[in-house]
Amino acid sequence: MCISDKYSDLLSCIEKARLASPIAANKVRLLAASKMQSTEAIEKAIEAGIDCFGENRVQEAQEKWSELRKKHSNIELHLIGHLQTNKVKQALMLFDVIQTLDRVKLAEVLSSELRVLRNNNPQHSALKTHHFYIQINTGEESQKSGVFPENADNFIEYCDSLGLPVIGLMCIPPADQPPAPHFALLREIAMRNGIKELSMGMSSDYQEAVRMGATCVRIGSLLFGER
Ligand SMILES: *Cc1c(COP(=O)(O)O)cnc(C)c1O
Repeated sequence: MCISDKYSDLLSCIEKARLASPIAANKVRLLAASKMQSTEAIEKAIEAGIDCFGENRVQEAQEKWSELRKKHSNIELHLIGHLQTNKVKQALMLFDVIQTLDRVKLAEVLSSELRVLRNNNPQHSALKTHHFYIQINTGEESQKSGVFPENADNFIEYCDSLGLPVIGLMCIPPADQPPAPHFALLREIAMRNGIKELSMGMSSDYQEAVRMGATCVRIGSLLFGER
């Protein structure tokens, strides 16, 4: 099956899941997780109509997307992988959205780099990132990044005090557990903090995520094949 058929199948499955649930979002964005995919594969995805992509590594994204973005100015690019503090500046100049704000130190570096970029570029031309999502470690797994649920409210408030425009939460549930309780927890944290966007659901569980209120599902293998 070609990518445009896979894409339209996905869109109709998303729509079916959405209509089946009273708490589903009015609109769900499909983000194509394009880590390890060539620029040729990404070009095909763009031709199929996909306009939102997620990358995991700053350097790989820079290599692939500096050219792609010149050709396709309408694409929205998200960072969905761990961000090291020494890559913050490059990330802010490349990604529209950073979904992996996951610790105090990173929040502080992002906030100060944002200030520098704004001061040096009055038109904000070098600055791409205008929105952040906080990554929540809903399963409290030691090998995973993310703020623990019990610290989420304080962390959201701290990001707010730093002036970071946080509009969403994201999570990656533990691989060995049913995802629904994790999606429900993410939604609950978002609702009580007045946060609108929920990035949850991947190839294996996106329908469940949509039923639980996801506004963004991150799909890799169902679009591009197994990595
Ligand atoms: C790779 C990746 C995805 C997509 O995973 P699939 O199972 O291939 O759909 C989603 N989210 C994150 C954070 C990823 O790294």
